[in-house]
Amino acid sequence: MSVPKEGMKYWFGMYPSITFADGNCHLIPGFGNTGLFETSEGLVIFDVPIKQNALKTFNEVRTKTDKQVKYLIYSHGHFDHAFGFGPFQKEIKEKGWEMPEIIGHENCVRRFNKYKILEPYHNWINSQQFASVSPKDKTVATVSSKLVLDPTILMIGNEAKHSFDLGGLEFNLYHDKGETDDSIWLWVPEKETICTGDLLLSSFPNVGNPYKVQRYPLDWALALDKMIEKEAKFLIPGHGKFIEGRENVKDALSITSEAMHFVHNEVVKRLNEGKWFEQIYHEMLDIFPEKFKKQGILSPIYGCYRFAIHATYRLYHGWYNTGNPTDLFPAKSNDIATEFLKITDANSYFNHAIGLFENQDFQLALHIIDIVLKGKEKVNDDLYLDSLILKSKILKKNAIAEPSFIAANIINNAVNQLKEEIKVLKQKLDK
Ligand SMILES: [Zn+2]
Repeated sequence: MSVPKEGMKYWFGMYPSITFADGNCHLIPGFGNTGLFETSEGLVIFDVPIKQNALKTFNEVRTKTDKQVKYLIYSHGHFDHAFGFGPFQKEIKEKGWEMPEIIGHENCVRRFNKYKILEPYHNWINSQQFASVSPKDKTVATVSSKLVLDPTILMIGNEAKHSFDLGGLEFNLYHDKGETDDSIWLWVPEKETICTGDLLLSSFPNVGNPYKVQRYPLDWALALDKMIEKEAKFLIPGHGKFIEGRENVKDALSITSEAMHFVHNEVVKRLNEGKWFEQIYHEMLDIFPEKFKKQGILSPIYGCYRFAIHATYRLYHGWYNTGNPTDLFPAKSNDIATEFLKITDANSYFNHAIGLFENQDFQLALHIIDIVLKGKEKVNDDLYLDSLILKSKILKKNAIAEPSFIAANIINNAVNQLKEEIKVLKQKLDK
């Protein structure tokens, strides 16, 4: 698996495992970190990685201990936290061990059921979200939703808590919504350790993924506030670097919580002022505090501030987001563009887009060149080809400048599609 940007190395877990506390606690990095706790009566595992990293994580666990797995906890039911159980399951069968208790929130089971009815759709979406790490075979993105291990202990309801003891250690689990509605985080008091799952993931919280369902910015912030109260010394995030030291843990949780409260409260304030999305979005870009920009843990390498604005708006508002009734039942965008080209010829739009591009007004250039591309029936093949090439050029520049992995993949997917279209048209035109 190749990783596109240096900042993503830690995010994808490409660093050695870490042993901490008294030597019986470990972080096994993967795409989805695993927390491993050894006790005198067996192992507690918090999260298994993506299926493709399962054997690597299993082997790493087995270099540290040969004890039986007694508990497996799902921080949530995403494919990079609850699907890499295969080698553990195989070992249990081979050794004739009892299956461990598997702990998840009731919404995790609903999630697994949802995956079963939407498998082709999710494979399609994930092949786009993770395109750059699996450009040819879509194996990173494609994990069969039929191969799940259902929880044996369900945490029920919005205020769910669950505690258990193993080998004299206490494990306290809490449910809070955040990236998902089935999130669970773990507090191990004797080890002063928190496992956050994706409630902390070494990037600006992925609270507004443009491909995925509604997420929960305020609940997320409140979950982080609850974690701060534990005064943990060690923190295993859902992805990325281990955090060690009471102050460092507190700082990471506090600044992330502050950023989430900020986005939430500022969007809510503007909703209450009677503003539509466009105004809210651009005002929010203008007021993003400098201090958040400087925080490594808030780097927009996966989720990003821009997505978080969408998430908060969508949490409280429906899909009619412009306040302009023209947008309520819109015509086809291709038909609209064709009408524009009846007023002014496509060459004028193309030349105008070139001017904007040369002036570095990339976003405006994209809007203008789309009129030519969408009004295709009024455009000759040569100009259409030039327009495809211009759009591709702009998007490539945008992709290079884009820090968010998800946003960059969206743009690069479009570049790849344009490349295909350009190739076919060039062949047709014999160019
Ligand atoms: Zn994750």
